[in-house]
Amino acid sequence: MNLSKLSEILKTEPKYRFVQVNQAVFQDYISSWDEVSSLPKSLREQLAAVCPLEIKAEVYKNKNRHQSEKALITLADGEVIETVLIRQKEQRNTVCVSSQVGCALACQFCATGSFGFRRNLSAEEIIEQVVFWQRYLKTAGPEEKVANIVFMGMGEPFLNYPEFIKAVKFINNPETMNIGSRRLSVSTAGITEGIKRLAGEKLQINLAISLHAANDSLRATLMPIAKKYPLRDILAAVDSYINKTGRRVMFEYLMIKEVNDNEKDALELIRLMKKPLYLVNLIPYNPTGRFTPSTKERIEKFKKILEDNGVAVTVRLSFGADITAACGQLRGKR
Ligand code: SF4
Repeated sequence: MNLSKLSEILKTEPKYRFVQVNQAVFQDYISSWDEVSSLPKSLREQLAAVCPLEIKAEVYKNKNRHQSEKALITLADGEVIETVLIRQKEQRNTVCVSSQVGCALACQFCATGSFGFRRNLSAEEIIEQVVFWQRYLKTAGPEEKVANIVFMGMGEPFLNYPEFIKAVKFINNPETMNIGSRRLSVSTAGITEGIKRLAGEKLQINLAISLHAANDSLRATLMPIAKKYPLRDILAAVDSYINKTGRRVMFEYLMIKEVNDNEKDALELIRLMKKPLYLVNLIPYNPTGRFTPSTKERIEKFKKILEDNGVAVTVRLSFGADITAACGQLRGKR
């Protein structure tokens, strides 16, 4: 899909054409300009020639389990990104989008990090992932829509802040995709500049911090970026975000056997997390070849220690591991 020349083509057209085109592409999720019968034929032909709507994608799903599906989208320059659809009951479809091709942060538990950074995505390339799934769901029935979007795919969104926030505002705009900001979530490895900038946006987007360790030295072995952003600075940025927005912040904590799931880790975590509007989300680790996932029993025990000490905590159901589409497993591979 490439709409970069859209304004140029529509500049001699009456203003309402913009509305018609926006509605067709971002609300009706057309796949071909021929579907927009309200536009004159000559304009449709011009748009088809200059603003292609095709999204090159391959979808992977497990034949037996349909909970999550992964799409590999090939961009105009040949780079490949991943996006995931997580299907839940009552049309609660969630889409996980990438914000970069690859990632520079090299988190040790993450497949994306192991293949390095290639480039930032443009806002249009971020939006395109949602458009793809909206078109895909449209074929399943009129009530099937993308309900939630999480910026948790390939890349660190706050290292591509301008395009990330442009995409968020576009997705949220009632004149375009009209998906409420409360249905959008962004996860960061703790880029404090991004947390501060997000606090200044008048948006009710959900913020999550990839924490994964309760002290800087363990965190730095799992996430090299922790050397630049110590926990003290991240939590100060989060506290000021909460003061400014009054919004709850989620702390994601991957459960990795005998690395960060011991009793002493839980006790250390309590000291950091026992604050109003902090919520810890324990995530069963999806194996990427390096570590061993915590057992169910260890996760339950860890959770109980936090709960008993007054920390708000949940365990995330992990979808998609069967098609390597789960958290930390995205790397643009077939
Ligand atoms: S977990 Fe996120 S920030 Fe870390 S390497 Fe993977 S994509 Fe990058």
